[in-house]
Amino acid sequence: MKRSLIPPSDSPWMPRLAAAAALLCCLASYALARAGGGHSYSGGGFSGGGSIHGSGGSGLIELWIWLVMSHPIIGIPATLLLIYFLYAGGGKGRSMYVGHTIVRGAATQVESEKLTRLAKIKERDPAFDENALVRRVINAFLKIQTAWSAQDMSPARAFVSDGVMERFSIQIAMQKARGMRNQMERVEVRDARIAQADSDSHFDTVHFAVRATAVDTDVLLKDGSTVRNSGKTQSEFVEVWSFLRRPGAKTLQKPGLIEGSCPSCGAPLQAMDAAKCGSCGSFVNSGEYDWVLAEITQGEEWTVRPPERTIQGYQALQQRDPAFNIQFMEDRGSVAFWRWQMAAWERKPDLLQALANEECAKAFIAEISQKHVVYKEAAVGGVEVLACENGDPFDRVHVQVRWSGERFEIAGEEAVSQGQSVMCHVFIFSRKSTVRTDPRHGLRSLRCPGCGAPPSGSAQSSCEYCGVPFNDGSVGWALAAIMPRVLWQRPGIQTAQRAIPGAAGVPAAQTPESDWAAVLTPAHGLAVMVGAMMLDGTIDKRELDFAKAYTRKHNIPDSRIDQYVQAAKLGQLQIPRPKSPAEARACMTGLIHMCLADGTVSAPEMRSLLAFGGQLGMTPDAVKSLAVAERDFLYRRAKQSLAERKN
Ligand SMILES: [Zn+2]
Ligand SMILES: [Zn+2]
Repeated sequence: MKRSLIPPSDSPWMPRLAAAAALLCCLASYALARAGGGHSYSGGGFSGGGSIHGSGGSGLIELWIWLVMSHPIIGIPATLLLIYFLYAGGGKGRSMYVGHTIVRGAATQVESEKLTRLAKIKERDPAFDENALVRRVINAFLKIQTAWSAQDMSPARAFVSDGVMERFSIQIAMQKARGMRNQMERVEVRDARIAQADSDSHFDTVHFAVRATAVDTDVLLKDGSTVRNSGKTQSEFVEVWSFLRRPGAKTLQKPGLIEGSCPSCGAPLQAMDAAKCGSCGSFVNSGEYDWVLAEITQGEEWTVRPPERTIQGYQALQQRDPAFNIQFMEDRGSVAFWRWQMAAWERKPDLLQALANEECAKAFIAEISQKHVVYKEAAVGGVEVLACENGDPFDRVHVQVRWSGERFEIAGEEAVSQGQSVMCHVFIFSRKSTVRTDPRHGLRSLRCPGCGAPPSGSAQSSCEYCGVPFNDGSVGWALAAIMPRVLWQRPGIQTAQRAIPGAAGVPAAQTPESDWAAVLTPAHGLAVMVGAMMLDGTIDKRELDFAKAYTRKHNIPDSRIDQYVQAAKLGQLQIPRPKSPAEARACMTGLIHMCLADGTVSAPEMRSLLAFGGQLGMTPDAVKSLAVAERDFLYRRAKQSLAERKN
């Protein structure tokens, strides 16, 4: 949004190129070689200019030849000037045009995709009203800030998913253990809008970008004194709030969950612990009745997931179990992550045992008996399903959680800080392959898969109503393993093609092995680059300048660089690193796309990419040609979406 756009292409550049191209048809090969070689990553030389000179004018050429012949004093310098013009100005002009088209096309693509997906939702639900929903979301946002500051989430319980609730509860428990609370004062929503929507056979999803300001302070519980930001400085932040509902749900013509009413029977919902309506007994946060908050993502960690994203094994699993869905597994992954944090914090393996099978629980107990490590202010960057395995007797789903926090080792009464950590773990869930998902469960990722009852306590490992065990995979997904992403092996690799409509010669074939780069977020991209820059133990000025330019381009706070650098110095920047040439290429592709967010790979960016490529084992030529190919690919895709909009 802060990006300055180059004015519409056709005006300053087209006449200039038309004239120059017409003039230089005889010198074209010379000019092409210079222009292409000089800006090898600026995309495609002048291939697009051909049609202009074809239509142009033999008359102009004759005129020029006459000028050179009969008035060489004017003609020759003018020719030289024009060659220079085409090389320096025209090259840049073309480059700017391509860059501008990419930016415009990408925005158009996101916008038209959004409209298509919203139209799909409206088809099912004609009363769907974007503006009314935005107003409800602002209301939800403010309610949650108030509940959070008061450390009592029960007023919001009805409209948040189990995963989000687990996150809030555990973060609040950790704050209480530290004798403080986070106080958000003067919260004001500056802007809220639909960033993207999704609609599949399992859920309607709407992502809202919320820009807000607040005075964010920490307050001691014992005397209410302010211990952080005591100057009460107001700060601005952007978050993406994702709401889901089951496709059967329709826009309510009456107050719903956010307004504090049971969408099923209309009874007022009191502050609740179990998201169960006291009047009609419905589990209101399943998404069956109304929109439910399923995820909060920091602006810098959000990206529009490409619709063509393929998840290894997903289709095969879905064919056998039609109600199986990614949203549920990601919510389950989020629950497991926070349980794991809390179990480690309190050294209570029971908390994890309620979700984890015997083997996983044993491994955890062995780990915490060695040393007591906890993470202060843990924050999740992103949760993603990496792969599904269709097995016998167990199916498995691999869920990646990227997160960060300040690492502490506790010895006796003392907690010693070991600095910032940026981590990535894979949570592997297993379930008997004969089990099928109950579509009515919606997002109830923390309820009894047998009867739907919420467990009465966090440490409960079987249902007290129907006796079904939660943690052996016999009826639902049990946690089977937690491992650092760097040690994770992708199960049996197959190949698949990235499907992009209308793109001939798709540059980077996307194997499931490399799909992590397809959802690279701005902050994740920064972490990957800092990780590579820090391989030699230090970050030099040039690298730092590039990192700073990158953070500005993507609205990432500058402090993030330092956080990643510190974590890397301590060996605690544990982010996935490309392990094969295909992954290196995919990772580089993701970074190039990040750089191309404003349409161009600048010279400093290219230098950094080349250095980074070196560390990945890619030659400078390979990096440059990939950059050219990707830019060309984005350009063509942009042109296509711009053309589609016109039709
Ligand atoms: Zn009810
Ligand atoms: Zn049960």
